[in-house]
Amino acid sequence: MHPSHVPAHRSTKASHEIAPGVIPSRRTTSRRLVGIFLAATLLTGCQPGSTTTAASSPTGPAAPPPATPTPGTATAPGLTAPQRLTTLAATITAAPGDHTTEPQQGRPTRGGDLSMTTGYVFHPEYLWHDTGTSAGLMPANPPAGIQPAVHIENPEAKRRAHELIHVSGLLAELTVIEPRRATMAELLRVHTGDHIQHIKTQSDLRGGGDAGDGFSPVGPGSYAIARLAAGGLIELVTAVARGEVTNGYALTRPPGHHATADRGMGFCLFNNIAVAARHAQAELGLPRIAIVDWDAHHGNGTQSIFYTDPSVLTISLHQAGCFPPDSGWIRENGAGDGTGYAINVPLPPGTGHAAYLHAMTEIVLPALERFAPDLILLANGFDASVFDPMARQMLTADSYRAMTRMLTDAADRLCHGRLVAAHEGGYSPFYVPYCALAFLEELAGTTTRVTDPLAAVVADYAAEPLQPHQNAVIDEAAQLVSRIGAHEIAAAP
Ligand SMILES: [Zn+2]
Repeated sequence: MHPSHVPAHRSTKASHEIAPGVIPSRRTTSRRLVGIFLAATLLTGCQPGSTTTAASSPTGPAAPPPATPTPGTATAPGLTAPQRLTTLAATITAAPGDHTTEPQQGRPTRGGDLSMTTGYVFHPEYLWHDTGTSAGLMPANPPAGIQPAVHIENPEAKRRAHELIHVSGLLAELTVIEPRRATMAELLRVHTGDHIQHIKTQSDLRGGGDAGDGFSPVGPGSYAIARLAAGGLIELVTAVARGEVTNGYALTRPPGHHATADRGMGFCLFNNIAVAARHAQAELGLPRIAIVDWDAHHGNGTQSIFYTDPSVLTISLHQAGCFPPDSGWIRENGAGDGTGYAINVPLPPGTGHAAYLHAMTEIVLPALERFAPDLILLANGFDASVFDPMARQMLTADSYRAMTRMLTDAADRLCHGRLVAAHEGGYSPFYVPYCALAFLEELAGTTTRVTDPLAAVVADYAAEPLQPHQNAVIDEAAQLVSRIGAHEIAAAP
């Protein structure tokens, strides 16, 4: 049975008794202290658009907080800092039975469609891609004073996202699709033989090596795992093309969108989404592919692979000038036959919910309408979240939910719901899981009873209105939409 046809209380009954985000009693005190410290840090920090920072809060007695925390709603911006602390404390110390948030309704557009299902790809091997002892993104080098630590692209955020998807009960409502390893022929549709051999050679080294830029570790055996990531996305796209599932999410690792045809970079070995796109074109009868990339960093690898190809539209929303440096500007608009089919939206640092939704409305959706894809692929990075250490954007779990609804609605209108997401970045181990759950709930047209426990804390970020300097970028990039198809029109007799 598809979740959209289940009564509103169904997901509650199906969920496990232990609600993630709810803390067992023996750890309540320490978790509460951690939570309050976190909240205090955030609430006293610089919050754009905030009118309720600690410094400006009334000093008199605080009004009582809402009886029930309401994460994900717009009520929190009206709370004072002390009220918000109380709200967060109530959230993180609530007993399972206190979790009374009502399940939301599934997307209305899915209401009568009994055949709609969502595929899900995951494999434990994805967590075995060993990125070693780098300090963040710097290779460990004790003689140079760089202490060994954990690489920023480590398994933890992905592991926790998968676990939350499982424990929330959502996994039971998905169609699990087993990944396989991409073949050499499938990789060669995108990558050079030299690059594939380079990854294999590095992977065969006892201590591993690097994919190409000095910051992208290839662990021992990572060649096989990277093929399992690309092959997992191929299997998911295949299932969607055959109608076995309507849409899907591949929670794969290593990521792919920075990898070019001949070089790994930005923690990416093979460009999973490009390999899947070429497979869809070559084997599945889906010639027109749109790739939307909302990872906080520019999808430079994907763009470069399809830069002269009008059959693949690439749209990247990212933080301007973040990574790679000097990449992803508006002027990069495709070349040759592909002129007009690469769209970049370099959003200023600090861009949040309202501006991202505005960019979706003004650029992504009209571009998709104009291109009329047979399949929409999503390079799904959660590193534009407010908690991410690798970018400076301000999205929340609810932002991802809202953007996902826009994309699923577009896919419903344009290509029979065919939307396939590949996991890309996202480096906050404690927040990525909530973003991933919100995304996947929306994709599947259902909800669990797990809500974002930090929604009240980040409400000021979420409430920031569209800023003029953000709007200026979006306005400029929106002018590109009309160029889609212009080359084909100009070339016609
Ligand atoms: Zn990223």
